[in-house]
Amino acid sequence: MSKELVFGHQNPDTDAITAAMAFSYYENQLGANSEPVALGEPNEETQYALKTFNMKAPRVVKTVSNETDKVMLVDHNEPQQSAPDVDKVTVTHVVDHHRIANFNTAQPLWYTARPYGCCSTIIFELCQEKNIDIPKDLAGMMMSAIISDTLLLKSPTTTFHDEEAVKALAKIAGVDYEDYGLKMLKAGTNVDAKSDNEIVDGDAKTFTLGGVKMRV
Ligand code: MN
Ligand code: MN
Repeated sequence: MSKELVFGHQNPDTDAITAAMAFSYYENQLGANSEPVALGEPNEETQYALKTFNMKAPRVVKTVSNETDKVMLVDHNEPQQSAPDVDKVTVTHVVDHHRIANFNTAQPLWYTARPYGCCSTIIFELCQEKNIDIPKDLAGMMMSAIISDTLLLKSPTTTFHDEEAVKALAKIAGVDYEDYGLKMLKAGTNVDAKSDNEIVDGDAKTFTLGGVKMRV
């Protein structure tokens, strides 16, 4: 049986990359055979986090149906933000903190949606619920993802779930999350190293509104 692929949205941010790594780890602890991948290269902020916690970036893939027939989606559910051939594979799991839109499946599936500031916060709670220990390096990445999505717990989307998760993960990772968080966010705003297109496209997502495709 081929490995199930776990991935976040296109133009991956720190949460899209980390949630794939964390959810694949969680599922494999429960007996799955999955591999985290990414639908794009990690951005500067994510690279900073990966370097700090000594972790390798997930393999980048353009399509998924050429190597598997089952996938797990994290940090997104809308098909237009997913792999271009997601309609050709079975989605077995979704873990997401966004609105649900244009999402349909032919088969029943595991779907975990919680309205938190970050997808990695949901995965932190899933690990807690099943008593699954989070390794130090992965804890550092999950903490980074929450800091990234909530702008160091300052964004209006931040919930007490995110706050508790950041504090617990910082303890496992052995870092001061406020000090580290500022450095990480600063690494992500290093626009010198990017082209104009990368800056504009870096935080863009595709939506379909009234039949019209928009990028925001
Ligand atoms: Mn994201
Ligand atoms: Mn997210």
